[in-house]
Amino acid sequence: MTRFALTLAGLLSLCSSAALAWGNHSFAAYRAFERMPEVANAAPVPVQSLEAFLKAEEKAIEALLKEQEAWASANLEYYPARPAVLAFVANPARSDEARRLAFLMALRVAPNSKLALYVQPDPQIPFNEARALPHSAVNTLPEPADSTHRFAKLALGESVTPLEIVASASDEPDYGLDINLWGDSPSDWGKVYGFGPLSFGNPAVNFATQSPFHMGFFHESRVIYLAAPFLKKTFPLWRVHQYTGLAALAWRSGHPYWGWRFAGLALHYVQDLTQPYHASVSPGDGTLKLIGTNLLAMAGMPRMKNELVVLLSNRHLALEKYQRQLLRHAALTKQSTAIEEALRNGQRDASYPAWSERYTRDVVAREAHDYGVELSDTLMATLPPRFVSDPAFDFGVKEAQIDILAELGKQDPTQRAQLDAAIAKLLGHFGAHSRNVLRGALQAGGLRP
Ligand SMILES: [Zn+2]
Repeated sequence: MTRFALTLAGLLSLCSSAALAWGNHSFAAYRAFERMPEVANAAPVPVQSLEAFLKAEEKAIEALLKEQEAWASANLEYYPARPAVLAFVANPARSDEARRLAFLMALRVAPNSKLALYVQPDPQIPFNEARALPHSAVNTLPEPADSTHRFAKLALGESVTPLEIVASASDEPDYGLDINLWGDSPSDWGKVYGFGPLSFGNPAVNFATQSPFHMGFFHESRVIYLAAPFLKKTFPLWRVHQYTGLAALAWRSGHPYWGWRFAGLALHYVQDLTQPYHASVSPGDGTLKLIGTNLLAMAGMPRMKNELVVLLSNRHLALEKYQRQLLRHAALTKQSTAIEEALRNGQRDASYPAWSERYTRDVVAREAHDYGVELSDTLMATLPPRFVSDPAFDFGVKEAQIDILAELGKQDPTQRAQLDAAIAKLLGHFGAHSRNVLRGALQAGGLRP
């Protein structure tokens, strides 16, 4: 990497260190799908173990993953080929455990991923403590101090609604599936996966290692790519392709639980890209400012760059924290605000093109990228200046103690209304794209004409 690229990489290293895009995707996903007839009216399905699905469909999975590898090489702008030894080859004689490991390594996800049988119930419904599963049964990452997650155990064969499966799984890729997959990651599997060194960020920070799978910078100016070619080394489009393909296979072969579960996993990456801070290097800042900031840093004047890094990170985290608090508060108090309505509103779904392999990049990420300037201006105009305009304040460090809802309660209500309108707009995108992608997946799975 050139020095120029290194300073730009610095911009991304901090702003992606702890960010989860929508904090808890399941809160928003319940609202996005609860009135979609294909989900709301779908009959409950029996819970099946991953091992049983893999054993029953081993041959078909071998063929699908082979096809997907060829697709990725032909269609993705950047794709390091999967090492041949990781290919999934059917072998009915091996143990369930060996087959599961071979499958996860062929997908190139963390082989210690839990993929537990669980749901994250709708927060509108009182949680049944008797079914509680600890964080560590579902997620390989440490539990954050302000976690809003509650997990409920599922039993094999029990009936569960597609809404619960898909909403729960849409949050799951943040549970360690994409952690430490790189050649310079502190893991054994990173050494064999063939991804090379981490595209950007700090390889020692676990969350930084998942960022290139959950972010996509497809719409920056050519100058930025020339300066920082590593920005193209991201994989959300590949993950969407992998999991939508597996969902279709599972539905078509009579494993509806895994159909909905894989569909939920695919949705996560699309939903992440509805967040402007996941679809732009620096929302609200033009190419000239970025390049200028970098040039100064290279010339030994890093102050502007360091400040920009902190400000980007703070705005990103403040936005996510606030929307998470809003959705959770509305769910717990059973309110339906303009934000819940925006999530459910299906009227704009058909204003977007139908689902295709280009949809995530050309429609979802484009829209999020183009909304960056307006969003950044709104955050600065409406959130307390300490959170979004003060480079001496580190939101990430203090996040668990910050209550943005309470802070905004002390402010001018017209400002808060402006912020809520921006969040309703973004979550309107989240809802419409989630449904459009699911429609495409259901069609591929033979569940829709
Ligand atoms: Zn994510």
